[in-house]
Amino acid sequence: MSDRKSFPPIDPADLERYGKEMHALATELFPIYRGMTGAGVRETLSRLGQVVPLEVREVPSGTQVFDWQVPREWVFRDAYIREPGGAKLVDWRDSHLHLVNHSVPVDAKLPWRELKEHLITEPEHPDWIPYRTAYFRDDWGFCLSHRQFEELERRGADREYEVRIDAEFVDGSLTYGELYLPGRVEEEVLLSCHICHPSLANDNLSGIAVAIQLAQYLRSQEHHYSYRFLFIPATIGAITWLKLNQDAVHKIRHGLILTVLGDAGTSTYKRSRRGNAEIDRAAAHVLEHSGLPHTIVDFEPVGYDERQFCSSGFNLPVGVLMRTPSGQYPEYHTSADNLELILPESLADSWAKLAQIVQLLDGNATYVNQYPYCEPQLGRRGAYRAYGQSDEGEDLQRAILWVLNLSDGKHSLLDVAERSGLPFEQVRRAADRLLVLGLLE
Ligand code: ZN
Repeated sequence: MSDRKSFPPIDPADLERYGKEMHALATELFPIYRGMTGAGVRETLSRLGQVVPLEVREVPSGTQVFDWQVPREWVFRDAYIREPGGAKLVDWRDSHLHLVNHSVPVDAKLPWRELKEHLITEPEHPDWIPYRTAYFRDDWGFCLSHRQFEELERRGADREYEVRIDAEFVDGSLTYGELYLPGRVEEEVLLSCHICHPSLANDNLSGIAVAIQLAQYLRSQEHHYSYRFLFIPATIGAITWLKLNQDAVHKIRHGLILTVLGDAGTSTYKRSRRGNAEIDRAAAHVLEHSGLPHTIVDFEPVGYDERQFCSSGFNLPVGVLMRTPSGQYPEYHTSADNLELILPESLADSWAKLAQIVQLLDGNATYVNQYPYCEPQLGRRGAYRAYGQSDEGEDLQRAILWVLNLSDGKHSLLDVAERSGLPFEQVRRAADRLLVLGLLE
């Protein structure tokens, strides 16, 4: 007996509302000062925990995770550059991007010619503040707009400045969140996003918002697979999770990294290392049938946490769903990746495609036609009755004939959709109908 069926269609009015809700969540999370570890990540997870039943896990500093170690926790209080005893010129309170994330503590007086070695700007976009980190190296720095840098430069090389970074590294932990939605089977779909970027909207918050919206949706549906959502710091979070769950990853049947999902660009899917996994076919099918421009790119071991999930030892079927890939939009890793860069309608569109991919995976079963010798007499059984004579009705008739023809226990419904050129949801609805009529098993 099959437990897989169509999800109810998504109402366009609901979709519009989801877009606004996702943008509102991003807006709420934007001011929280996140980093690889520490208070900002905890605060973010605690906020998400008000929406879905998230489990927050703490992995102690120093834990060996494959070739890495969970770093000491960064405790941060304040950072600025000022004239000795005078006004602050660069102040973390004005923009969280001013401080190089995970900088070591500093309390020093430096002449401009030494200070400027620690300053980072982006001359091509002189008003934007870049985002940089000092992860896994003992270093410090400030990021500022090139315009501000030039103003300071004009004051002279010998001018002295006070630099203060009030921070420390302590034996604490790495924090991540996990949400598990049990399905009818233990086999899982993994959905992962990173939560370590401060005040960046597309790179970070869009993925979180889309993941949370999907989790809420799945909680209201019956589903075949179990769904596992990860909210982890990039790279070290994925490495840590994989180390701790090494014995359970065989349950992962399909996976997606969710990132940069809110910009005005078109959808991009990056294939898993396997290249032709079911997730790769499902994502390609949904994007191709969306009728909208899109791009599908091959796996390469640069990018987000697919680098870890698709490392050769794991080689999990995990792809990446995004819009304009990171690094290919000029605002990437700068202060211009802000709440204006992400649009409710783009978030909604990304969400709808993700939901369709999930519905496809969840509904993709293989059946056996119970009347394989010639066609069964469909009219007498009322197979077409529900569909009338509209174009959709004709498409559903075609879908019914395709499903019957290919349901030999060897072809999945995705095979049927790919070979017939019909959208998966239509093939799935045809199968639902044939199951009710006892023509499939
Ligand atoms: Zn990033």
